[in-house]
Amino acid sequence: MLSFDRGIVTSWEAFVGWLRKMNPFVTPLVREHLHAVPQEFLTPVTFKTLLFPPRECLYRYIFRERQWELYPEEFPVEPASLLLAPCEARALFDVLDQIFLEESPGDGYYRRRREQLKIGIVGCTFMEKTCFCTRVGGHPLFHRTEDLFILPFSSGVYLEGLGEGDVEGRPPTTHDQEALRKIVSFLEVQAPPPFPSWLPERLYEHFESATWEEITWSCLNCGACTFFCPTCFCFDLVADGRLKGAMVRTWDSCMFPMFTLHASSHNPRGRKEQRVRQRVLHKFSYFPLRTGKFGCVGCGKCLKVCPVGWNIQEAVERMVHDA
Ligand code: SF4
Ligand code: SF4
Repeated sequence: MLSFDRGIVTSWEAFVGWLRKMNPFVTPLVREHLHAVPQEFLTPVTFKTLLFPPRECLYRYIFRERQWELYPEEFPVEPASLLLAPCEARALFDVLDQIFLEESPGDGYYRRRREQLKIGIVGCTFMEKTCFCTRVGGHPLFHRTEDLFILPFSSGVYLEGLGEGDVEGRPPTTHDQEALRKIVSFLEVQAPPPFPSWLPERLYEHFESATWEEITWSCLNCGACTFFCPTCFCFDLVADGRLKGAMVRTWDSCMFPMFTLHASSHNPRGRKEQRVRQRVLHKFSYFPLRTGKFGCVGCGKCLKVCPVGWNIQEAVERMVHDA
């Protein structure tokens, strides 16, 4: 989990000094877990806005002399650094990168921004009540050897994956290692067990169950959960202008009745429980059956922002146990 031979320990002051040079974006979740990070670093509402803005022009068009002329939209992309929580990093690697880059040539808009983004993962030293990353294949200390990994602890900050010219420090002492192991043991006690491997198939078997109506009645279909979810990526394309205008991409949500409304006026997901079922099954059944990984990273953000406290984890458990 923590390879002490790869890591160093540095003081909090040296770490903050180095952060100032890096000037990273810091996600709201990292800020919640790392209270001592100075407020000066920019915090996007959700990190996916850096890669996939809520509204962006893809190209401009004009109909002239009986022909359509298309003009690509120029957008400057600067190198940037981003500090993510482990669950958010998994959302980026296992879901967003898969969706936008999996098939060649992928999404050029996303790709250009992604190539300029340096990622640092900040390990969590505790799990909030709303967290369930370990149920869906994650861990509060998840990171990869190629990532920059940051873990604050009692003696300072533990860092792995540094490059040349980054912050300096010392190898972890026996005392540091002991303190870090205590964090790991504490997390092990807190972490809920993984969902069983049969869960995606079992959920799919319950597609027609009447329980969907029972568990979804309180949802308002406001879509807040989808906009804050780090793994949700649905979008709409709108031609803004008839003979001259812009093709605009905007975030969309499977919670909205219009999302699947056909031109014929038929709507395959016209009822609320059908839309919520789609959200649950896409993350916990369809996506894992296709990729081997859950489409939810257990960050709990959807529960935190939901005006009625609708809990996707409880819904999944109830579906497989009560249906
Ligand atoms: S689960 Fe909550 S946040 Fe999501 S659409 Fe329903 S009411 Fe809104
Ligand atoms: S569904 Fe909820 S818990 Fe899962 S990744 Fe999205 S916001 Fe996080």
